[in-house]
Amino acid sequence: MWFSEIIKRALHGFKNALYPAEVTCDACGNELTGRSRYRLCAECTETLPIIKSGEEICPQCGVPVKNEAVYCLRCQNMRSKFELNRSPLVYEGLAVTLVHKLKFGGQKYLAEALSAMLADCFWDNGMSADVILYVPMTKREQRVRGFNQSELLARGLSKRLNVPLSDALIKIKDTKGQRGLSAEERRKNLEGAFHALPEVSGKNCLLIDDVFTTGTTINECASALRHAHAKSVCSMTLSIAVLKLDGEKQKEEKGAKPNAVDG
Ligand SMILES: [Zn+2]
Ligand SMILES: [Zn+2]
Repeated sequence: MWFSEIIKRALHGFKNALYPAEVTCDACGNELTGRSRYRLCAECTETLPIIKSGEEICPQCGVPVKNEAVYCLRCQNMRSKFELNRSPLVYEGLAVTLVHKLKFGGQKYLAEALSAMLADCFWDNGMSADVILYVPMTKREQRVRGFNQSELLARGLSKRLNVPLSDALIKIKDTKGQRGLSAEERRKNLEGAFHALPEVSGKNCLLIDDVFTTGTTINECASALRHAHAKSVCSMTLSIAVLKLDGEKQKEEKGAKPNAVDG
């Protein structure tokens, strides 16, 4: 009996050596049988809320727009400090699972495969950048989580695109969690929280984050980069939330764009 147990364990170890963690699906853990661009099985790839190229999106933030408006309601009502944002995924279903696994489950290895989605999105949208930055945390915030998921995504993307990563954007003020706050409360919460070092001056900056919700975080970071004379600021987030807005309101002002990119 004990002998067969030893054999079983040895075989198990052998199998693990042959098929390391990389050949299991990052979302469900099932073994991957073929090559997979995003390290996801066919079933999970199928349910991934990916924003397909050619899909109608808001030209500012990149969220799918299902009504006939050119700009989404969020961008119609926000003074954007960034040129544009693009995201490979809608923040729902499996995208939420993946972000949570990375952010709260501490599964840092996920950033590697997820940065491939950002890279594909970058090429699909014909984007360019001199330098890649990420939404920073304060030292205290980073100590609590142990890592910065946006930095991990930015690092993976930087390697894939061969564009240098910069830590010239810093967070100088601890802030409350943004969950449950309105856009205005979020803005107040983050006011003066970010600072960019002079080395971004004259550079086309690409800012990376995990989720685009109200756009306040990206906007405040873009504002700091512009203050340090960045030439341009674009952003990419792994996912973007479709705001649940009042259906009637959404029908108003189709295509209106009162707030252009600020300076
Ligand atoms: Zn799977
Ligand atoms: Zn928008």
